[in-house]
Amino acid sequence: MSEREPILICGGGLGGLTTALALARRGRPSRVLEGAPEFGAIGYGIQFGPNVFHVLDRIGVTDAVMAKADCPPAVLMRDAFTGDVLATIPTGDSFRARFKHPYIIVHRIDLHHALLDACKGVDEIELVSDAMVTGFDDRGDGVTVTTADGRTFSGPALIGADGLRSFIRSRLIGDGEPRPIGYVAYRTIVPMWDLTADVHRQAVVLWGGPGFHIVHYPLRHGTLFNIVAVFRTATHGEKGDAASYRAELQHTYREAHPAMHDLIAMLDLGWRGQVCALAPIRHWHKGRVVLLGDAAHAPLQSLAQGACMAIEDGLCLAELIHASGDDFATAFRGFEAARLVRTARVQLESRALWDFYHAEGIARDVRNEAVAAWDEAHMHRCLAWLYDGFALPAEEVPRSRAGMG
Ligand SMILES: Cc1cc2nc3c(=O)[nH]c(=O)nc-3n(C[C@H](O)[C@H](O)[C@H](O)COP(=O)(O)OP(=O)(O)OC[C@H]3O[C@@H](n4cnc5c(N)ncnc54)[C@H](O)[C@@H]3O)c2cc1C
Repeated sequence: MSEREPILICGGGLGGLTTALALARRGRPSRVLEGAPEFGAIGYGIQFGPNVFHVLDRIGVTDAVMAKADCPPAVLMRDAFTGDVLATIPTGDSFRARFKHPYIIVHRIDLHHALLDACKGVDEIELVSDAMVTGFDDRGDGVTVTTADGRTFSGPALIGADGLRSFIRSRLIGDGEPRPIGYVAYRTIVPMWDLTADVHRQAVVLWGGPGFHIVHYPLRHGTLFNIVAVFRTATHGEKGDAASYRAELQHTYREAHPAMHDLIAMLDLGWRGQVCALAPIRHWHKGRVVLLGDAAHAPLQSLAQGACMAIEDGLCLAELIHASGDDFATAFRGFEAARLVRTARVQLESRALWDFYHAEGIARDVRNEAVAAWDEAHMHRCLAWLYDGFALPAEEVPRSRAGMG
């Protein structure tokens, strides 16, 4: 198989599309196989730390993303009972000065479309929708993939960017389904003018309570309002109806601050997701097949970094494939080495932060007092390992492609 055949990417999410763009930047063709009938149809709010701009700049999509994004003035943590603001991370000028890039909130559909439009403008990328991958065969000199409708695609390597419930991971690693942690999530977007709750409308706000939290922030230049409510429940693995979901929410949030009640009343109960976690693992590749993003190292959403890690992975992997001269074994080993500790730290710190948000009893008192002592400089120091970005393998962009970013 010619190494100039398109590399196969299973999954056209944020990680998959970034990888395709980063490969194209090096002149490498790829074919992105997306199982859904359309690319990028799912949409809720997403937060991006400044670290993601190291990648967005290089793949040339920063301006398109920033046209749709907002920069919140701050990220706040509030106590779910008293409403007291426990911690404030200013994300305005001082944050930008420290981390060189902004903190943004953006509608996921807009973000996806920024990446998709960039992919459509590049000859090296072929986008194939309605291509649910159901099998693959690593023949040693290339990989053949089969889709649910019986089509086959061959390429020199296969990148599994197929998310938390990755089919590729199930065959490559075979370590079972992601583990439910006993929590469920509801996500809702409402027009801003429908928002009746007395809450901050520009900042990212997290209300932390024992076994429950709510995150909210505006989208699309203040015209929409994104609400995510998450809580622990024994029914996390069960399906119910709107009435049972409503009763459970009212019971769970019964002692919460009145503003949280108003937010709960706005939730769309039509979608309820079980929160699942993956523990870090050391190896994400075998032969000519490699995993990235959630398929390799999905974290809990508490650090708001899962998509950022998938995007960082995409650039890193593409650079290593290029640098290795298409020696995929070397590139994939280098990719694991470059990304393991950073992504595992995101997984582990997200888990610790999850417990911190949900602290109860004495742990809550300790949390509230500890957080009260944090100043901006302290928070910058705590976040530097993450928001300063990661070291890319040495890069040298060919002149003819420098315009891509
Ligand atoms: C409630 C919530 C809030 C979050 N908020 C944030 C946030 O603020 N910031 C942040 O950085 N992260 C956040 N995340 C995490 C983020 O959504 C994920 O980490 C990110 O989407 C992972 O990207 P990915 O490309 O690896 O996988 P996905 O985005 O899951 O993409 C996988 C793609 O593969 C496709 N696919 C799946 N199986 C197959 C198959 N067999 N064949 C072909 N295609 C297939 C899917 O249709 C999908 O398009 C949040 C997650 C949740 C649940």
